Amino acid sequence: MSAAAPAQPLRLPAVDRVLSAPAFRALAVDYGTRLTTDTLRGVMDALRPAVVAGQATAEQIEPAALAAQVRAQLDARFAPRLKAVFNLTGTVLHTNLGRALLPDAAVQAVVQALTTPANLEFDLATGGRGDRDDLVNDLLRELTGAEAATVVNNNAAAVLLTLNALAARKEVIVSRGELVEIGGAFRIPDIMARAGAKLVEVGTTNRTHAKDYAEAITERTALVMKVHCSNYAVTGFTKSVGEAEVAQIAHARGVPLVVDLGSGTLVDLSQWGLPHEATVRETIAAGADLVTFSGDKLLGGPQAGLIVGRKDLIAKIKKNPLKRALRVGKLTLAALEPVLRLYLRPEQLPEQLTTLRLFTRPQADMRAQADALTAPLQAAVGTGYTVHADAVFSQIGSGALPVETLPSYGLAIRPVNVKRAGRALGHLEAALRALPRPVIGHIANDTLWLDLRCLEARDVPAFTAQLPLLAEALAQE
Ligand SMILES: *Cc1c(COP(=O)(O)O)cnc(C)c1O
Repeated sequence: MSAAAPAQPLRLPAVDRVLSAPAFRALAVDYGTRLTTDTLRGVMDALRPAVVAGQATAEQIEPAALAAQVRAQLDARFAPRLKAVFNLTGTVLHTNLGRALLPDAAVQAVVQALTTPANLEFDLATGGRGDRDDLVNDLLRELTGAEAATVVNNNAAAVLLTLNALAARKEVIVSRGELVEIGGAFRIPDIMARAGAKLVEVGTTNRTHAKDYAEAITERTALVMKVHCSNYAVTGFTKSVGEAEVAQIAHARGVPLVVDLGSGTLVDLSQWGLPHEATVRETIAAGADLVTFSGDKLLGGPQAGLIVGRKDLIAKIKKNPLKRALRVGKLTLAALEPVLRLYLRPEQLPEQLTTLRLFTRPQADMRAQADALTAPLQAAVGTGYTVHADAVFSQIGSGALPVETLPSYGLAIRPVNVKRAGRALGHLEAALRALPRPVIGHIANDTLWLDLRCLEARDVPAFTAQLPLLAEALAQE
């Protein structure tokens, strides 16, 4: 280096010359010429100030180094935005993480529907036009005891459509204790207004009596509606009127009863040790003329809104123009049909219906997993944190059975430095979220909890495979 001639000032190479380097020819094959060229220009523009200021090195502007940067940027751009994550939040039906996971039978049906023409609206018996609802109509009738059924995009759509078809410019009676807001801006009074129906509130927040309903019914009344208190519980000095009694009151005046059951299950969950939740069949049997419920909550199927009940009312709903706007696509129906069929053989449900399998996982399973994962996770998070296996409680989620919990087991990660616990937990949470398959836990009591209920045995290798990356990320703090 001594007595060298003064270094030539560095200059960025010409774009065309860089593009002819082998590394860039490979990039152009993977990502196309235009994107590769544009991205290279961006990388060189970003380097230019350092080059001009004499702060760049010769290596930095070599084609191989430029290609590595361009590839990293293009890889990131082409990575899917919708990523698989590990749901270790302890909430099984997590709305923000996509709610129900579907069983294999549904996955295969969706793949087929995606890649093959199908009789979505084609009557194979006559060769004429069919009705997409017919694909699941018989199944839903059999499973609920209802006369007819129709399917729309989600339960919010089911409620909107039902109200618009049956109660536009008329009155709908609802108890004040049931004017719910479901996360993501579904509020009964707002949906009612959008549907063009007039809400008539009866009773009080904590108490509604039979006579409140009876006195509110007039010739302007289109429906009496009951709404499941999905995500809250009214306790203490309370009174509500059951479906059967409200149905009697409504029917005596010739008015139908519509029940928004929210989650809506098709089987009695208490047979597997879970809390009892009113089934759709029970609600129909109690006298509801229509019941609406979600496909992707307790039912364990795809996002959908199901409306079952009286044939004449379903027919009216199906004639409403909104039905066309809110209808489901073939992927939804492809997934829904096999899920519903699982319910014909309830004995196999806890194994085959993914959501029920997760709800009924024995605590000992999660405990064994927690014990096995404690040491590897401790190694990954390093000496700044302690990791312990601990008992936790999972929730069903999506507003189903909000006060009930399921005994589970998980990993509790606590910062050693308690004074800076908040910061350390924030770092840890961010590092977990930044993994190729993000890990989502939850923070409570200065601890980051990873509930293992939704980490099934087949997911464990993918989970542990990422631990070295977590260690690297945390070591850089
Ligand atoms: C969840 C829920 C809805 C909304 O259902 P989506 O399928 O999410 O549209 C409506 N009403 C009740 C009572 C609910 O619990």
